[in-house]
Amino acid sequence: MDGALMLAVQLCEWGSGPELREVPNPIPAGEELLVRVDAAGLCRSDLHVMDSGTEVFDYRLPMTLGHEVAGTVVSAGPSADNSWIGRAVVVHGIWSCGTCPNCLRGRENYCRSLVRRPDGRLAPIGNGLGYPGGLAELMLVPSERALVPTGTLDPCSAAPLADAALTAYHAIRTNSAVIDNRSVVVVVGVGGLGHLALQILRTMDVPHIIAIDSKAEAAAVAESSGAHEFYDSVSAAAQRLTTLGGTDLVLDFVGAPTTTAPAAAELRNGGSLVVVGSAGGRLTAGKDVGLAAGWTVDAPFWGTRADLEAVVAQAQDGLLRAEITTFPFTEAISAYDRLRNGSVTGRAVLDMSASRTRKESHQ
Ligand SMILES: [Zn+2]
Ligand SMILES: [Zn+2]
Repeated sequence: MDGALMLAVQLCEWGSGPELREVPNPIPAGEELLVRVDAAGLCRSDLHVMDSGTEVFDYRLPMTLGHEVAGTVVSAGPSADNSWIGRAVVVHGIWSCGTCPNCLRGRENYCRSLVRRPDGRLAPIGNGLGYPGGLAELMLVPSERALVPTGTLDPCSAAPLADAALTAYHAIRTNSAVIDNRSVVVVVGVGGLGHLALQILRTMDVPHIIAIDSKAEAAAVAESSGAHEFYDSVSAAAQRLTTLGGTDLVLDFVGAPTTTAPAAAELRNGGSLVVVGSAGGRLTAGKDVGLAAGWTVDAPFWGTRADLEAVVAQAQDGLLRAEITTFPFTEAISAYDRLRNGSVTGRAVLDMSASRTRKESHQ
């Protein structure tokens, strides 16, 4: 395999589009494991990275994109456990230090290595976000701590678990104190994350799950994912929420000026606003600004490895199923174009097995 080349989708220059390029096959060293990528999801945060610059991200280019990865372990470094070889996995995209207080608490998504540099730039996080990612035929992970086995789960369904489902699950799990059979829960934004949040809430016996999305066509996905009611804006839902006595939990996957502050005003006493999206919403927090007594505001980031194990288990039980549109690997560039212009239904996932079959038939 030495000297062999593979295809990878790379960001070569800040502010430019992705490119499909030939790069050397990676070779695992130390505790590293080599994963043959079977499917990889495209994420809007990839677009954010491409559109940004070196003043925002302390990432070295060219960088292979891709932080939603499902694959099969094909080789192991000399000090890695080679019983992983042959196992189907999903990659946990937060390559934490494993030794800081938060890692030792199992909160590795808040690892102290995931920092802002003194100059304000963001340090690398994991695959496709500072380190070589999964939009490639092969990908290295630093150790087995980055892998969760997926068993017989279809790789195209497994890939979106690594980010879209994991982020939604973590936001819900860490706010579960206000979720029970008396709760009113509001989900703002029924996109890649929001529709999976609805599916997770559906398993929790919540009597009032209220979905909000400005796109009318999201109503059908909201309903099939578990929402009881649908509104096209927070203000359109306000009267209903007043009738219900307010909401215990708002999961704001949009995070816009039209969602964050207006949704906070609908909280019941003891309620929580969870801001996941980052579209410029702002909230003034204080004891005397008119928020319900006992308010909390949370801005969770991604999720832990244990959370990823939990979403894999839910998917294996048929409780979680991401809406996806698949593309062959060779159409990655146009798939990103479609993601950008909003014409992808559900999560865009590259199905790597399609191009592999063609390539193998040449050999
Ligand atoms: Zn993402
Ligand atoms: Zn750490």
